[in-house]
Amino acid sequence: MEYRCVQCGFGIKTLFVQYSPGNIRLMKCENCRAVADGYIECETMLLIIDLILHKPKAYRHLLYNMLKQELANLEGLWWKSTFGYLFLDAYRSLVLKSSKEEWGLSMSFSSLLWTCGKILTDVFFENFLFLCTFLLATKIFLSRLPGAPRNKDLVLAILISSYFKIFLIAMMAWEFPSSVIFIIDLFVLSSNTMAVKVITGSAMSRCIGACLSAHAVKVLTSQML
Ligand SMILES: [Zn+2]
Repeated sequence: MEYRCVQCGFGIKTLFVQYSPGNIRLMKCENCRAVADGYIECETMLLIIDLILHKPKAYRHLLYNMLKQELANLEGLWWKSTFGYLFLDAYRSLVLKSSKEEWGLSMSFSSLLWTCGKILTDVFFENFLFLCTFLLATKIFLSRLPGAPRNKDLVLAILISSYFKIFLIAMMAWEFPSSVIFIIDLFVLSSNTMAVKVITGSAMSRCIGACLSAHAVKVLTSQML
């Protein structure tokens, strides 16, 4: 895995040269002659805004250049992103369930335990089917050229690009209508699509097909459980 120019996606050995602490020179891309990764000198907030705006260059920075820096701690990143993803999914199910049913102090401890157990099992099952459908759909929709990303890279891109789920945390502090959850779901879907497009370089319609089918299976499963 190498660094990438965020403008055109061309591989580059190094993004900057450091002369002294705080004194760096950004490298230029050999392909497009632009500065390879301007986000290095930018505030994190600017990156977050560009990610929300779905700019491909922000996704390239996040999925290639930032991940390469994390390479030494990749296993830790896998655990953290998987745990965060499943935790927020479980919280999402809890909010949807509590809006449908009456939740109160009258609920016995055993029924509370049973509900939490059911939510966790459902979340694992939904995401297992989501993952299987996604990997199958990428095989069908996306061209597998030599040098194409491995399944592991695609899954990590899905986990990281689901960062919109973090907005569910705001729902812990403030009361929102449960329809906000569906808006977050739509953002996660579009963010996943952009991440798959950046990672695979496939046509947008194919990436939408791969992500939409996986998300549709997940929603259908959650409706049936
Ligand atoms: Zn370039």
